[in-house]
Amino acid sequence: MNDCIFCKIIKGEIPSKKVYEDDSVCAFHDINPNAPVHVLVVPKTHIPSMNAVDESNIDAVSKVLLAIPKVASTLGLSNGYRVINNCGEDGGQTVPHIHFHILGGRKLSVKLN
Ligand code: 5GP
Ligand code: ZN
Repeated sequence: MNDCIFCKIIKGEIPSKKVYEDDSVCAFHDINPNAPVHVLVVPKTHIPSMNAVDESNIDAVSKVLLAIPKVASTLGLSNGYRVINNCGEDGGQTVPHIHFHILGGRKLSVKLN
């Protein structure tokens, strides 16, 4: 857990461009954006992935979901946006701290679902 990049960002040990923070949630710009707006929304508690979501941490995850429309509004995404969670190797997850990508700022093209 101590080596987790996002835990370090949450604690301010690694710099980031934060756009939202409350007691349970932190949101910051992705370092390698894939859209004009690309922000990551994370729980402040370390949850490794969607596979680790259970009754013990669902409150923390639900607070992330509650924050997403607030973050999107702050970012000016009034015309819509996409929320993505990558889980595990096949899902393309590269940082093992659950996070939701908010992508927007243009009409998004590729849809995999
Ligand atoms: P994943 O691939 O796990 O779904 O998403 C991880 C995201 O974290 C990637 O989009 C990557 O660009 C971003 N990322 C990785 N390291 C850092 C960092 O140190 N700071 C920030 N702001 N984003 C990071
Ligand atoms: Zn973490």
